[in-house]
Amino acid sequence: RSKLGAMNDATDTHCPYCALQCGMGLRRTEGPVPVSVVERPGFPVNQGALCGKGSNAAAVLGPGARLTTPLIRRDGELRPASWPEALDRIAAEVSGTAASYGRDAVGVFGGGGLTNEKAYLLGKFARVVLGTSAIDYNGRFCMSSAAAAGIRAFGVDRGLPFPLEDIPRAGCVILVGGNPAETMPPFVRYLRELQENGGRLIVVDPRRTRTAELADLHLAPRPGTDLALALGMLHLVVADGRTDEAFIAERTTGWAETRAAAMAHWPEHVESVTGVPLPQLRDAVRMFCDAGSAMVLTARGPEQQAKGTDTVSAWINLCLATGNAGRPNAGYGCLTGQGNGQGGREHGQKADQLPGYRKLDDPAARAHVAAVWGVDPDALPGPGRSAYELLDSLGTDVKALLLMGSNPVVSAPRAAHIADRLRSLDFLAVSDVVLSETAALADVVLPVTQWAEETGTMTNLEGRVILRRKAVDAPGGVRSDLEVLHELAGRLGHGEGFPTEAEKVFDELRRASSGGPADYAGISYERIAAEDGVFWPCPSQEHPGTPRLFLDRFATPDGRARFTAVQHRPAAEEPDAEYPVRLTTGRVLAQYQSGAQTRRVDALNAAAPGPFVELHPQLAERLGVRDGDRVAVVSRRGRTVTPARVTTAIRPDTVFMPFHWPGEGSANLLTNPALDPVSRMPEFKACAVRLERA
Ligand code: SF4
Repeated sequence: RSKLGAMNDATDTHCPYCALQCGMGLRRTEGPVPVSVVERPGFPVNQGALCGKGSNAAAVLGPGARLTTPLIRRDGELRPASWPEALDRIAAEVSGTAASYGRDAVGVFGGGGLTNEKAYLLGKFARVVLGTSAIDYNGRFCMSSAAAAGIRAFGVDRGLPFPLEDIPRAGCVILVGGNPAETMPPFVRYLRELQENGGRLIVVDPRRTRTAELADLHLAPRPGTDLALALGMLHLVVADGRTDEAFIAERTTGWAETRAAAMAHWPEHVESVTGVPLPQLRDAVRMFCDAGSAMVLTARGPEQQAKGTDTVSAWINLCLATGNAGRPNAGYGCLTGQGNGQGGREHGQKADQLPGYRKLDDPAARAHVAAVWGVDPDALPGPGRSAYELLDSLGTDVKALLLMGSNPVVSAPRAAHIADRLRSLDFLAVSDVVLSETAALADVVLPVTQWAEETGTMTNLEGRVILRRKAVDAPGGVRSDLEVLHELAGRLGHGEGFPTEAEKVFDELRRASSGGPADYAGISYERIAAEDGVFWPCPSQEHPGTPRLFLDRFATPDGRARFTAVQHRPAAEEPDAEYPVRLTTGRVLAQYQSGAQTRRVDALNAAAPGPFVELHPQLAERLGVRDGDRVAVVSRRGRTVTPARVTTAIRPDTVFMPFHWPGEGSANLLTNPALDPVSRMPEFKACAVRLERA
């Protein structure tokens, strides 16, 4: 084992995709793809198991569609250019825009797949070099509602405040709006072990997904009604005398208002709002309360709503009222989606945050981070716009944009409008591995290293900081995002403070995070390698890390968890005569997010070649549509044509579309950008559409 833990002839690293960050090995090969994926059975999260995305991950390192030279738009076409030309052009455009329109006219858009080091340096670059408040990232579209609700209740947000290994020890798990059997299959072993141990699994999803098929009880509410469902369960818990009064009295605040709000939601009303039969609701309450210790895990279903924060709060309230928080093998957690969805929200690429998960409008936080950065705290800009609002302001308030590790032309709601906004910019620079749909609109494209070509840390959905190790050299002509930031900072008058070595950036990140809620001060590359990851907070090198949060106290000023009284309200766009059907969106097994990587892998494309709309036979019959027919799906934001998949595994009043594809059949041409007032999460998961035979 080397200093960083390379074993035998394979390099220990992690999957390039989702937040499980499965361990894998990469072994050098002689073919056009320079490595092959091998098992890494010793890594505890996945114990060698990989899904098809992970086992085919080496394909994205092959020549294929890989960008290997910078591109500059000339005469309307993207044409090859040298690195100095491309970097000079970006620096000149950024300086000119700031001089003409002010610093906030230059925007930065990051990604939840960037390493901790990149996310950190990108946030520092925006605030110190550009001096702009206009920075946010695509993680806003991922788990921001769960993060906001977690902070509201517990004082800090760490997706899972307990390690995955605790899940099988719970007596009951309610999984709300998540489909890990397709999105992160190795996670399913924790659910199977739960059931093997006698625990019960309840899945809440409008579709009978592969995950729902594993459940002891599947509740299928209408999209956008998860909040009402949680209120109905809490009502029954109170009515049945199943609350944990000692826990409520000793470790929480705000119960009286929350109790009153729940008691105003009669189960019969909840049944009519959600479409979940009352006997099923009672079964769920019985399973949850009989379990002894229970968990609620949410994913994008309840979170990607214009009331996502309140919806997650309603599920947290259920945990708190039954004493299922702040003790082993129980609690609330969020299954973060993107590879660095957790770390991506902690280090300062979010519009309102500084490294260490500190708040940008907190004077003490500004002073601490400014001291690490060697700048005047008063010179740091204030909070900026959320991701959708930032994208919506392109061409008007924001004139130039630097975009790193994101593909909003496919992944943003109301995607055609966002593509128009990107086209309306005076200047767009994109750094990416491939010519994504967003990069294709840019004035300058920078080809950058990826995943196995560079070293860096990620923080998985448990809050475990892990190390992705470089296993192979990047193709000639490609540079790292850290080098890009270093070069641009130098051209913009900041020759110091932007190292190109990931470990140096991480050491500065540790100091910047020290004392904050997400404290990495005691985490080093050596420790991560030796310990298979370290859980934050870890304030010193002697500290063991913190796999389980809240066992003694919650991270609120008084140490108590906070109930939040919430009310159900309809989706921002309910079905009506013109648009009578609910649309919900999600992912499929063989594709990942906007598909920029996975759509370029032959094996994955063969398994999931294109978009579709899933609808129930009753709806299909009404429309005269058969399986495989092409159907137009129309919302107030757009119209798109895609093949029908007729299945009884979905509610008759709901259709489902995966969102991995651009152009015809793209789900996000239809989705609603109505925003949650707290998290600013768009309502991806519920909008109104009509279907027509195409
Ligand atoms: Fe990669 Fe996620 Fe699949 Fe694991 S579950 S192999 S991290 S995509």
